[in-house]
This record gives sequence, structure tokens and C-alpha cells, in this order.
Amino acid sequence: MTDPRPPRIVVFGSLNADLSVQLPELPQAGQTVLGSGLFRSPGGKGANQAVAAAHATQRRGLPAAVRMVGRVGADDEGQLLRESLAAAGVDDSGVQIDREAPTGVALILVDDAGDNMIAVAPGANLTVGEADVAGAVAGLRPGDVVVCQLEVPVPAIRQLVRSARAVGARTVCNAAPAAALDPELLASLTVLVVNETEARHSLGLSVTTPPQAAQAAASAGCAVVVTLGSRGAVYATPDGDAGACPAPSVEAVDTVGAGDAFVGAFAVALTAGDGVAEAVTAGVAAGATAVTQLGARYYPHPPDPKSGDE
Ligand code: ADP
Repeated sequence: MTDPRPPRIVVFGSLNADLSVQLPELPQAGQTVLGSGLFRSPGGKGANQAVAAAHATQRRGLPAAVRMVGRVGADDEGQLLRESLAAAGVDDSGVQIDREAPTGVALILVDDAGDNMIAVAPGANLTVGEADVAGAVAGLRPGDVVVCQLEVPVPAIRQLVRSARAVGARTVCNAAPAAALDPELLASLTVLVVNETEARHSLGLSVTTPPQAAQAAASAGCAVVVTLGSRGAVYATPDGDAGACPAPSVEAVDTVGAGDAFVGAFAVALTAGDGVAEAVTAGVAAGATAVTQLGARYYPHPPDPKSGDE
């Protein structure tokens, strides 16, 4: 049987309106600190990763299509989030408008030293469930890649991973924000992507070297990739392949969104036929580029809206 359609990347997860304020210093409990004006930007780990994946497909000239599945409220923020996805070349038809809950909002405080505090009101992200899973897996085929994170309810993630696996699609779970994951969920993933802190929570292990990644992959039953900031990433597959990919030396301006850029490019590489090692190399390069500019969605070559779908 021939399969004429290009591979698909389905990103299942959160969409948030990011509201940021720059402050001289972060407030203590009970303190009020005056800051600069309010900066609004589209965010949410899921939406950021979908945009990163769309840019990676365009940069590599791949035909893969990126689809976002999640929920926003019936409000201006939700409308802006959907528009930002469409502008980046992401198919937003899987983003449902929830009539009961508002769009998720992340309140971000950043001080002059670059430290931050973030509070999230998840809103419609918490209503993601069975119907969204059905929408995400409809039409999936072997060769497709499903990407998820932990800003939507974990029961939905569990169901998504099970359903995607049943049709032969691969699953990449970025276990962020940090949370413990049950062994059954870990074993049903194709790849777990975490940073150093998240690795300790999701796997109960400290992972900074290839042998430690190998131990983590053997105990989890899936490939494990641990991103290490300026040190790049280490990875291992359950069949014993393990290695490290150092990050290029860059002038880091803003590390917010580095992990999302990594995950988007990593997923695209998998759909292009790359193995885990090559996909990690692509992810590390994308992460290093993302930290050189302000904002969670910086990409050096914005897509040309007039260019066709080559
Ligand atoms: P997260 O944002 O999820 O905490 P990391 O900080 O580990 O993730 O960053 C993800 C990836 O981004 C790293 O694997 C690396 O490739 C890249 N990266 C992050 N910080 C830097 C940096 N200072 N210099 C170069 N690359 C970086």
C-alpha cells in the first residue's frame, strides 16, 4: 500500500498567553515592585513546540505538516494564539475553543539579572481530554510523530500515548513541568525528553553522562534525552546506543524556550528519518540558536508568507 501524504507532527498540549513584566528585582512575599510595561506574547509549551517544529520543517525544506491540538477560551487571547500558530505555518484546526474556561495565562516576572518567576493559570488547558485525544490520533499513520508535554492533564497524555502507539506512530514526551511519571507511561513512550531537573523528577535519576542516560533508558524502557543547557545534551536508546552532543558556544541572551526549540527540531528530525543521535544534534543546534535572542519563539529565518509549500 503506498502512502502519498508527507509525515505529520501532531503537538498535543498547552497554549498560554504570556504576560511579562521586567523588574529591577523579583518581589518577596507581600512586596510590590514597580516594573516596566506589560509585554504580551503567545506561549505555552505545546504551542511553542509546534511553532518550533514548523520552523524546523521550513528550514530543512521538508514536506512534513505540523498540527496543534489543544484548547483555548472564547476570548481575545485564544484568538491571538490561534492566529500566531497559523502565521507560523501550523495547522490550528485541532485547537478547540472552550466555552466554559478562559485561555491559559502565564504571569512572568523577569529581573535585571535574568532570573524569573512564573505563575500559570491553566484555564482551558485543564479541560483537554478524551475528545482532543481522538482529534489528535485521527488519521495518524506509522512514520508520524506525536509530541506532548505535561501542561495538560496526565490522564489525557496517557490515553494519547496509548492510542498513538496502537497505530504505530512514535511519541515524544517532554516531561515538563517536572513531575513523576509512572513506569507504564514511560515504557509506552518512544522518547522521553527532559532537562536535568525534570530527569530527577520523571526518572528519579541524575543524568548528565551517556552511561547514566543508558541506565535511565534501560530502566524507563524508552529512549531518553536529557538536555543540559550550555553543555548540550546526552541521550540513550533502550537497545544500548548512547552518546553526548555538546552545544556550540553562543552568547546566550535569553534561555526561555530553549527546550521548546530543541523538542520541535528533534521531532522534525525523527519524521525526516533521522535516528535519535542525529535528532539530538538537530535539537541542540535549534536550542543554541533560540538562546541568542529574547523571547520564547525566536527564529532567525521567519517564514515568507508568500512562499509556497515546497
Ligand atoms: P530547558 O529550556 O528545557 O531547561 P535546556 O536549558 O537544557 O532546556 O536547553 C535546551 C537546549 O538548548 C540545550 O540542549 C542546548 O542545546 C540549548 N542551550 C540552552 N542553553 C544554552 C547555552 N547557554 N548555550 C548554548 N546552547 C544552549
